Parts: sequence; structure tokens; C-alpha cells
Amino acid sequence: MRIEAAELYTLRMPLKFRFETSFGVQTERVLLLLVLKGEGAEGYAEGVMTPLPLFREETLAGAKELLESALLPRVLGKRFLSPEDLRLALDALRGNRMAKAMVEMAAWDLFARAQGVPLYQLLGGVRKEVPVGVSLGIQESVEKTIELVGRYLDEGYRRIKLKIKPGWDVAVVQAVREAYPDAPLSVDANSAYRLSDYRVFQTLDDFHLEYIEQPLHYEDLADHAKLQARIQTPLCLDESIVSKETARAALEADATRVINVKVARVGGHAEARRVHDLAWAFGIPVWMGGMLETGVGRAHAIHAATLPNYTLPGDTSSASRYWEVDVVNEPLEAKGGLMPVPEGPGIGVTLNPDALERYTLDRSELRPGV
Ligand SMILES: [Mg+2]
Repeated sequence: MRIEAAELYTLRMPLKFRFETSFGVQTERVLLLLVLKGEGAEGYAEGVMTPLPLFREETLAGAKELLESALLPRVLGKRFLSPEDLRLALDALRGNRMAKAMVEMAAWDLFARAQGVPLYQLLGGVRKEVPVGVSLGIQESVEKTIELVGRYLDEGYRRIKLKIKPGWDVAVVQAVREAYPDAPLSVDANSAYRLSDYRVFQTLDDFHLEYIEQPLHYEDLADHAKLQARIQTPLCLDESIVSKETARAALEADATRVINVKVARVGGHAEARRVHDLAWAFGIPVWMGGMLETGVGRAHAIHAATLPNYTLPGDTSSASRYWEVDVVNEPLEAKGGLMPVPEGPGIGVTLNPDALERYTLDRSELRPGV
């Protein structure tokens, strides 16, 4: 496959709801969308880096610059045998996994479309639908939280994850647990606590949560292991796991007993599969995280979550929760807590030109040697 051209869009899309986590409030997404072209086919991927480095270190402006100046020039005009082969061309540059993932994921879509097969088949997926839950941001009140949890449970979602932060933790979890004694619940702190807060997590042990996600610093595996030794509830790392190597360190230290995989956070589909395989070898389940993706990133996530060790419900809930009008034509809607894998070649979705035009802030086209 020869990579003949690329288009890079910057989009601004209003979210349907106000999403509050321990690091702030989000009401829109500004994101990069990449189209790779070759041999009559196109492949798509989106960037999950944010304008400010709130989740990990990468930023939208930094990623755009790196893509245009270094990552895309390394693949444009070149021939590659496979998406893994293409990814090797980016290896000399360190870090910047989300930016590299855009190129790698678009290449997987491109190769799958060129072969006329759905992406999940190339990845080794084994299911046609994936179990999903909901990630619920911090709400204005406990009452509102209970109401929303009830609504999503009624819609069939298979796990409700509550975002927590200091001052919004034990009381809200206790109230939700009392309202829904048997609901599968988890919490996500996005690194808002320190090990010295361990008593908060010992208290949360009483509410039989499925897991506690990323309570401590995003680079600190040692303290997560110390916290895990003091509580019963499994810890689940998200921000901390950026590669197979960090996953191995976390698993060997017993710093995580569940892993949230985000394909872009670890640099693409091939590395996400390595993390999946390693966790499986450790007997540790994984699930697919979310970054408020458009239909492009959501479709990639659904295909990736068809691998056998994605046994826990992921965050890939219905696109209509997030967007009035998505950038793809196909609705990605869960039914009864199951998200069907989009049919058709590649990631199985097509871009909606009207939506693209509405949301585009900036567009650039790159060709070999230009
Ligand atoms: Mg998380």
C-alpha cells in the first residue's frame, strides 16, 4: 500500500451535555481528524489529545505540528506492507503516542478498506457486539446523579461509572448504592487523590464497586500498588498505562487488577492488542475506555473491543448521548447494553460531508514532498 495523500482537519463540536471530571468541565470537543489516502481507498482516525494537556501531556497544537512536520512526511509517498510496518516508520520519534496513533489507526482503516474486510477481522476480534456502560460526569447534585443512573440502567447499560473527586466521593457513591443495591458500579478519580487519602478508598470498599479507576498520580505505579494492598476493591489503571511496558510494570507490581485500554493512549491498535494480550496472560480483564470520541474514534474503539479479553463493559456508549449531529453517517447506538460492530469494510463508517463542513475550523492537505 502506497500512502498517497493525507488531509488533516481541526473540528470544533458542541457536546450535548456538560462533562465534569476531577480536572474540569468540558462543553465541547476541539479535535483533529485525519484522512489517509492510498490506492483508491481512504482511512480515518481522530486525535484524542486535548487543547490543554489535562489527561496526558499531548496537546492538540503540538500534535498538529508534529503530524504536519514529521509524522505524515515519514509515511507520505512510501509503501508499507501492513499497518505495523507503517508504524515502524514512526518509531524513531519518542512519545507522542496519541499523534502517532492517528496515523497508525487511519492506516488500519485504510488497509482493511482496501482489502474489503471489517477492521475487527484484521485485529483478530471474536464478537459482533460489545458490552458497554456509561461514564457519568460529576453532576450538580446527588439527586440528579441518582436520576441519571436510573435512566441509564433502564436503557440497559451494563455498568455505570461515576466520576469522583475529593469532596464528591463517598456520599454520592453511598447514595447511588442505596438507590440501586445490585447495579454494577465503578468510580474514576482521574488522579485526583494521594496515597494519604487511602481511608476514602477503604470506605468505598463497603459499596462493592467493580473497580476504582486511576485514583492516584498518573505516573505513580508504586503508590497504586501500596493502595491496592490496603483495599479489597480492584484498582483499574487508565492514564498510567501508555504501553505494553507500563502495563507489565503495573501488573507485576499488583498496581492494577483491571486495565482500561484506550487505543490512542497507547499509540494505536497494535500496541493496544499487546496490552490486551499481556493482561490476558496475567488473568486480568480489560475494557475499552472512551475519550468523548466522534463516530470515527468510537467505531475504532468498538472494533478493538471485539478481542476476547474485553470481558468488562466499556465506555463506548451511544453516539447520540454526545452529539446532535455526528461526523459519520452511521448511527452508533447501543441496545440493551450491547454496541453492534459497524458493518462494512474498515471501521464501517463513512464521513458526513455536511457535518464536516459545519464543524471544520481548519483543514490542510499533505502530499509527498510538499
Ligand atoms: Mg478514566
